[in-house]
Amino acid sequence: LVIPDFESFCDELGKIFRETLKNNNGKVADYIPQLARVHPDHFAISVCTVDGQRYSFGDSKVNFCLQSSCKPINYCLALEELGEERVHSHIGREPSGQSFNELALNSKGLPHNPMINAGAMMSCSLIDRESDIADRFDKVSKTWQALCGDKQISFNNSVYLSERQTADRNFALAYFMREKNAFPERTNLTETLEFYFQCCSIESCTSDLSVAAASLANAGTNPLTGKVIFGASTVQNCLSLMLSCGMYDFSGEFAFKIGLPAKSGVSGALMLVIPNLMGISIWSPRLDQVGNTVRGVEFCRRLVERFSFHQYDSL
Ligand code: GLU
Repeated sequence: LVIPDFESFCDELGKIFRETLKNNNGKVADYIPQLARVHPDHFAISVCTVDGQRYSFGDSKVNFCLQSSCKPINYCLALEELGEERVHSHIGREPSGQSFNELALNSKGLPHNPMINAGAMMSCSLIDRESDIADRFDKVSKTWQALCGDKQISFNNSVYLSERQTADRNFALAYFMREKNAFPERTNLTETLEFYFQCCSIESCTSDLSVAAASLANAGTNPLTGKVIFGASTVQNCLSLMLSCGMYDFSGEFAFKIGLPAKSGVSGALMLVIPNLMGISIWSPRLDQVGNTVRGVEFCRRLVERFSFHQYDSL
């Protein structure tokens, strides 16, 4: 067992959970009504180790949408299909130093990295491009199902419709990329954007998503089903970019303080990966100024204070 005394480990996590629960700072995302209506007090943490020990705290069975936490998986899918060189001829791998939806591209006219909106739309344009859009969405949702341990995942249609209706910035980004010839040839822009909004609108709960995080911690193999979902080099690339770019404009600070790959989303989702050890899924809708879940970040900070999980704690 990677965590021999799992019970006392979870006791400690419980203490951190209860301490963090007291933090009511931040505001729920309100750029679409569907997110603004989510109850701000929700809080859930689920843990799954790479050998399948699991535990949850709080609202771990309540669904929320993935939003930006869909980005790492779309990047993995593109990598698996096309390989590193091809994918990175369309997307950079450098932090942007600007907000996730900034109207900015790198000096080659490409999105800075796959963890911001422009890069995530580009990943979408690369996944299964010869198939029709329904099959492409099936591919993404089936991947999430497999990552979660063959669990059913949901789709929030009102979030999707709302995203699509308030998408001016994302359309602007997409046209900007098209102007720079960043997309592969024959990319249907509207279809690509809709595909991206659909991926953001996939829903699940921390209980299931912790298994997805654990699949990444376990180099792409699901710890519960033994299914190989991604190859190790794909996951290595993905975790590298989650570490440098996964937490919006707090990514550098997070890498410094927490030292672990993570990806957050405006729904208050946070996926934390402790390589070779465990995946943790966190959900709490109140966000800070840059768009990260307030309690999620505090939980991670307390976690590495209590346990030596920062990747350089081993030095
Ligand atoms: N659907 C959101 C957008 O594209 C995702 C934002 C996020 O979670 O960062 O603007």
